[in-house]
Amino acid sequence: MQVVFWGTRGSIPVSGPKYVEFGGNTPCLQIRLESVSDALIIDSGSGIRELGLQLARSADLHSRAVHLFLTHAHWDHIQGFPFFVPAYIPSFKLGIYCTKDARLILENQMRTPFFPVGLDVMLAKREFHLLTPSEGVQIGEATVRHIPLPHPQESTAFRIDERGHSIVFATDTEHSPGQLNEALAEFAAGADILIYDAQYTSEEYKAGKQGWGHSTFAEAIRLAEAAGVRRLVLYSHDPGHDDEMLKAIETAAARERPGTISARDGLVLDPAQL
Ligand SMILES: [Zn+2]
Repeated sequence: MQVVFWGTRGSIPVSGPKYVEFGGNTPCLQIRLESVSDALIIDSGSGIRELGLQLARSADLHSRAVHLFLTHAHWDHIQGFPFFVPAYIPSFKLGIYCTKDARLILENQMRTPFFPVGLDVMLAKREFHLLTPSEGVQIGEATVRHIPLPHPQESTAFRIDERGHSIVFATDTEHSPGQLNEALAEFAAGADILIYDAQYTSEEYKAGKQGWGHSTFAEAIRLAEAAGVRRLVLYSHDPGHDDEMLKAIETAAARERPGTISARDGLVLDPAQL
């Protein structure tokens, strides 16, 4: 199993010379499974555009079944979906999984006057799955489980287990100061990789960002320690944090918990090779 980071930025895409190293696309992860050639994707921020082009180009090399899991409906997690080319190709099969009504969410995003065409012009075979609490989804030998995350309108954490390895994706979420998210620590227990919302520094959080729905790298480290995860990856970078700032955050976090890294667009991690 591998995780490929196609988008790592929170809130809004950024571009320009200050964002070259970490990239500027909004959330999209691809989980490459070992047991099956289906595409497993989490979130459809702007990063999903490039991933879609790659899946369309390599259509003969995989099953053309795409499983897209959505953490929640905030713009930065769905704005790339209208530009996901496989959704327009009839030979692709697209399963969309969400704890909310994903059909309504994606239809609304493409409704006039916000987008020139509607969801109905997408020709891939579509299936919408409403995720219910404690329901796991089986894809090949992989299991995808989920729990709710504290966030405005609520977000969803996903855990993927396959052949003895595990990846947990937990964004967007805010912690309660001084109080560990025990449910998340339990959910992430023993994971190889924990990808966690570290949008703000502790200083920014204290100086007016409390209640905005995001967390800090200090909290990420506390959680990673409590859950006993092997590798912590900081995620959902603030659009105001340029490469220099993100490198400083990564260095500070790695000093406290060796091996901690900040996610970058294009990064590929394999739990078997940490
Ligand atoms: Zn959000």
